Amino acid sequence: MKSKIDGFMELVKQRNGHEPEFLQAVQEVAETVIPYIIDNDIYFGKNVLLRMVEPERLISFRVCWVDDDGEIQVNRGYRVQMNSAIGPYKGGLRFHPTVNASILKFLAFEQVFKNSLTTLPMGGGKGGSDFDPKGKSDNEIMRFCHAFMSELFRHIGHNTDVPAGDIGVGAREIGFMFGMYKKLKTTFTGVLTGKGASWGGSLIRPEATGYGNVYFAQDMLKTQKDSFNGKKVVISGSGNVAQYAAEKAIELGATVLTLSDSGGYIYDKDGIDTDKLKFVMDLKNNKRGRISEYVKVYTSAKFVAKEKPWSVPCDVALPCATQNELNGDDAKKLVSNGCICVSEGANMPSTPEAIHEFQKAKILFAPGKASNAGGVATSGLEMSQNSLRLSWTRKEVDDKLKDIMSDIHDSCVKYGEKDDGSIDYIRGANIAGFVKVADAMLAQGIV
Ligand code: GLU
Repeated sequence: MKSKIDGFMELVKQRNGHEPEFLQAVQEVAETVIPYIIDNDIYFGKNVLLRMVEPERLISFRVCWVDDDGEIQVNRGYRVQMNSAIGPYKGGLRFHPTVNASILKFLAFEQVFKNSLTTLPMGGGKGGSDFDPKGKSDNEIMRFCHAFMSELFRHIGHNTDVPAGDIGVGAREIGFMFGMYKKLKTTFTGVLTGKGASWGGSLIRPEATGYGNVYFAQDMLKTQKDSFNGKKVVISGSGNVAQYAAEKAIELGATVLTLSDSGGYIYDKDGIDTDKLKFVMDLKNNKRGRISEYVKVYTSAKFVAKEKPWSVPCDVALPCATQNELNGDDAKKLVSNGCICVSEGANMPSTPEAIHEFQKAKILFAPGKASNAGGVATSGLEMSQNSLRLSWTRKEVDDKLKDIMSDIHDSCVKYGEKDDGSIDYIRGANIAGFVKVADAMLAQGIV
């Protein structure tokens, strides 16, 4: 078996040798899916996985814009259209200086499996730019978003490819990009998700990734007849995903001890309650401040510069910042301090070494493609509402989100249950995500 996986990875490396994040994501899928393919005649010998690792289309383009000093700036824009077997390409746009083809291909590859798991008809894609939004004025953000969309518009559409937000792209950026798309195409469609509620957006979309992650962790805890009530929760990140994961965990009776950003983490031993969380939301969303500001207001909390929060003892850890933010040593610390459940809010935040530690310790572990699928699932619900020209209530959307997260949990159980009754959520998510896309590809022939 190992030689089959190694042989496959050799082929993938030949074409993608300089793309470490992409190879990491493919390796994780190959390790669980190749044994399944070998056991199943309908997939064996059809090179379905080899077809899935090659993007259907990879678009790269120049983005020129003028900053507030009148200087001309040049960035690179991308859209990776990974797989459209089960629906139009769907996935976020990331604006961050680290963005490159490897990062976007790993994210687009993950997105294919994630979107398949949501039960909704969405293919997978991802895009973005190496543009750094940090420290930019609103006008600079607007000019960049307009310039970015003035090229991207020709490659997307509500039935073709539907982008949304990701790191560095929130409601403000979606608004600017939607404005330019509408101007260029003279058509008002659901071409982007994460829109404002008054112009086609869905209620609960801002909350969905964070809430969905907590719903998924709740389902995992339920398999152990446990719940969030009274649990100590450590969260990384302080953006959209972390904020709403914290909000839901607090609502379910947990104590949230940490939040972080690229400068370090805050540890509030008394717990970040609803009022303190409101302060963080205002600080991050409106003032675009640093998380260290928290300790100036809540003086019993401490700020630990340049560190991640994984050494803080907890029951549940929710990594909600970015890829590879939790390594093998961090995982060892979490496990030895008593952590029983890790549910990824970000995409691929745990390194392979960290995952190995969690699996060795037999604690509950959910990969992001299952546990953070609530965001894109609710984007799918936004697409449905746009097609119907209707808007559903908060309760309607939240109920659908809860149902989808528990359907994803059921799929992970179906394909990931082991002989001893425990659940390998990685295997479950990868195989369940694969089967739906692979069946569609086989039905559609070699295209
Ligand atoms: N960027 C989010 C993700 O990683 C959401 C994508 C979307 O809503 O299309 O799934």
